[in-house]
Amino acid sequence: MKKLELHWQILLGMLGGVLFALVMVQFEWGPKIVADWIKPFGNIFINSLKLIAVPLILGSLIKGVSDLKDISKLSKMGGRTIGIYILTTVIAVSIGLTIVNVVQPGASISEETRNELVENYKGDADSKILQANQQKEAGPLQALEDLVPSNIFNAASDNGNMLQVIFFAIFFGIGLILIPEEKASPVKKFFDGFNEVILKLIDLIMLAAPFGVFALLAALVVESPSLDLFKALAWYAVCVLSGLILMIGVYILIVFLITKRTPAFFIKGISPAQLLAFSTSSSAATLPVTMERVEEHLGVEEEVTSFVLPIGATINMDGTSLYQAVAAVFIAQAFGMDLSFSTQLGIIVTATLASIGSAAVPGAGMVMLVIVLAQAGIPEAGLALIFAVDRPLDMCRTVVNVTGDAAVSMVVAKSVGKLGDPKVKNWDDSYKMR
Ligand code: ASP
Repeated sequence: MKKLELHWQILLGMLGGVLFALVMVQFEWGPKIVADWIKPFGNIFINSLKLIAVPLILGSLIKGVSDLKDISKLSKMGGRTIGIYILTTVIAVSIGLTIVNVVQPGASISEETRNELVENYKGDADSKILQANQQKEAGPLQALEDLVPSNIFNAASDNGNMLQVIFFAIFFGIGLILIPEEKASPVKKFFDGFNEVILKLIDLIMLAAPFGVFALLAALVVESPSLDLFKALAWYAVCVLSGLILMIGVYILIVFLITKRTPAFFIKGISPAQLLAFSTSSSAATLPVTMERVEEHLGVEEEVTSFVLPIGATINMDGTSLYQAVAAVFIAQAFGMDLSFSTQLGIIVTATLASIGSAAVPGAGMVMLVIVLAQAGIPEAGLALIFAVDRPLDMCRTVVNVTGDAAVSMVVAKSVGKLGDPKVKNWDDSYKMR
């Protein structure tokens, strides 16, 4: 029997998890069984992915940068990467703003529902506002200051900062370029082997992916709030979702126009990473798989993936920025506020920056949303309105975040002549539209 492809296995795991949880919630003891005996396996799965992320970034970025052999190549690729990332983010925010202004989902929220939501989720909202306020107190150059770690082990630790790890790896790679070849060569060889080991570990972890996502989704379904609140927010959710779907369409179009790779090729190549992004709600946890898929199934050379994808996972969050724009305007509408054109232009800027600043972990986009709200003069307490549906939307926006990184890495690869044939043929030869 032919082995089922990975994305089908993961999809089956997800569906199985949801169905299992739906059955379990019928019994009084069901949710506890899921929490005690199923959820830990989901956590183990996410932890193992996160475990791989830091060594992967360090190893592959050091190798990637040192392979570039000269600094001008690095700055060329860096400039393009950041430029395209910002451009796609601005497109995403604009799509979100257009949809939310046309559909006006907030206008249909009754005062009663509004009060109920605010009451239910006030505590949760307050804790996010507190987190955001800590970030807001920072000075204008704080982000720059944060880029440089004072201790690489702290940076790589659990509460560490991925950008700091990236900074260290690029810095180290530059040092490697600048020393004589006979000295650099053993270090490069070491990282070469190191990377191979890490890639193998990812393969091993992915063997458990169908079970991991089963556990994650089962736990999520058991913990999710009542359906009534979901219904009240249906229009808001529809706005975010349609924007996200449109954004996936934009990526497919960009990839097709610039690299001539068909939509089916792109989606098939990246789909396991998308499903994982959906299940884990974390671009950082998904990064190891995104890198493997883009390199082996989409044909982007390692030099590019190792540089573009870790940076993308940390700063390029188009799904998040789109959601922040829709959520901000939705909350304003629900509170009966009319946002002027210039305020909405301001939202484009703040949502772009806020998404860059969001960490690649579950729920981070919502913390940074507080800053967008504050800038636009929208009541921060409105955060409580959107809590009920935030997790499912987080799952969906993370899919877009990851897809965006993959699309941009293909475009950058094409522009520097590093887009080739996939190492693993997952499609027949028609994938290139010549
Ligand atoms: N969960 C998202 C990510 O990891 C960030 C967010 O929007 O909350 O990409």
